Amino acid sequence: MIFAFVNTTQRQAASLRVALIGRRILSCDIKNDVSILPQVGRVVEEVRVYGREIEIVWDDGVVLRTKMRINGTWKITQKSERLGRAQNLGQVKIEVDGRIAVCVGASEVETHHDFDPKRHPILGRHGPDLADPTTDLEECISRILSYEDADATIAEVLLDQRVMRGIGNVFRCELLWSCELHPWAKVSSLTRDECRELVGIAAEMLQSRIPQPDATLAVYGRHGKSCQRCNGQVRVTHHGEANRVLYWCAECQVRHAGTSSSRYVTEHDTPPGVHPAEFIYLSELEKTRKSG
Ligand SMILES: [Zn+2]
Repeated sequence: MIFAFVNTTQRQAASLRVALIGRRILSCDIKNDVSILPQVGRVVEEVRVYGREIEIVWDDGVVLRTKMRINGTWKITQKSERLGRAQNLGQVKIEVDGRIAVCVGASEVETHHDFDPKRHPILGRHGPDLADPTTDLEECISRILSYEDADATIAEVLLDQRVMRGIGNVFRCELLWSCELHPWAKVSSLTRDECRELVGIAAEMLQSRIPQPDATLAVYGRHGKSCQRCNGQVRVTHHGEANRVLYWCAECQVRHAGTSSSRYVTEHDTPPGVHPAEFIYLSELEKTRKSG
């Protein structure tokens, strides 16, 4: 019975992944009193399952956790009118292009920030804001070049709010692709000119404040598809202390490849040709079987 329940939650999570992952939210209504509201325009990055709990994670690290009662469910539909009773009973309603997901019958609904020590303000002052046109970009470049952990990867450093603020996970993947940088490149291997290029592109994009449509993304959410630059295959993995998803092209993002330390050997690289949602679903089923 417990096994059947867990699988129900897993099936709901699998449906949520297919409906939401890689998509920007158009709206998010939460009836419960929560500390942080997921922001419109942010991209859903992951859907995780822990027993009866489902967590939806956005690219800025915001997490929505729902714990389901026996009859609780996440209902997914293409149009509002098909929601029926869930329209009024829904505790959470998330809308993306072409899909609406509604949570009914949760015993707990809460939001928090995914714990990432490098994003936590009490552990260090925030760096300059790249979205601010008055920001001194040389200061950001110096902070990258003098990064305290010389073995850290550039993919991690870009999300470290103590270095600079404004780069979310979607933009991190796009930025590394546009600079042809290997995500595991050791930060200490980058030259000042390379840092200047990274920071310059990031600031230009963030200050233009033009929302980038999902269709124009080069790698984020494009796992298994062809790279627009080299026709190689876009891949996805998890990376760093916060274990965030990372999309990249292994064939053309080769600058400083091979400079990373062995602690960054990836364990969760999704095999080419497998949809990430399918990969996660199959991995979780396997874990459940082992633990059962
Ligand atoms: Zn490529």
